[in-house]
Amino acid sequence: MKIGIFGGTFNPIHLGHLAACEAVHSGHELDRVLLLPSGAPPHKQDHRQLAPVHHRLEMARIAAEGIEFLEPCAVEVERPGPSYMVDTLEILGERHRGDELFLIVGGDTVGELSTWYCWQRLFALSRVVSVNRPGFNSGFEAESFPGISEEVLQQCRADRIEMEEVDISSTRIREFADAGGDYSSWVPPAVGDYIASHGLFSS
Ligand code: ATP
Ligand code: MG
Repeated sequence: MKIGIFGGTFNPIHLGHLAACEAVHSGHELDRVLLLPSGAPPHKQDHRQLAPVHHRLEMARIAAEGIEFLEPCAVEVERPGPSYMVDTLEILGERHRGDELFLIVGGDTVGELSTWYCWQRLFALSRVVSVNRPGFNSGFEAESFPGISEEVLQQCRADRIEMEEVDISSTRIREFADAGGDYSSWVPPAVGDYIASHGLFSS
């Protein structure tokens, strides 16, 4: 099986996330894509506006409803301490022996990958597949990924999926929610209802 791994803070999950999953699912003929809300995101130190993890997981579950290849995965949520993707891939690799893992990342994340804990291992544990994100166009240039072979980087460039741009971010959704603005066209309707009914992101 070909399994996509899509991690994020998902604070909240939005239509840009779902478009990325759809695009990589069809582009690489994946069997399943797992949505992994991060427990304690190592990159996000400002936790003031971070919704509790059970809400972020529930929104991922709601968003995946009705999309047959998509499912929430609680592996990062269940683990204490910081969520390092390399540990997650080790765990999922054990769980899905014989399957091929595809680590899905948006264009902004490509530029940050080499700051992640044990980042070089990510390329050994998975095929790293990027999707474009408006405003970010980091590729897999050799100078940004020391120690990764040109062959692997070529594969990453070839694996990259170009989708129709979706200019949505969770940050903007939180800002709109806090200001009483209308963010409903950026999230699945049921996620919008969940945010409103739980009063998430409004101070
Ligand atoms: P925040 O604004 O809080 O950082 P975000 O919208 O960037 O939220 P994340 O949860 O940080 O969402 O991102 C999870 C993954 O989704 C990352 O790999 C990110 O690059 C990707 N991603 C997020 N939004 C988009 C988008 N609009 N298009 C393509 N990829 C995206
Ligand atoms: Mg982000």
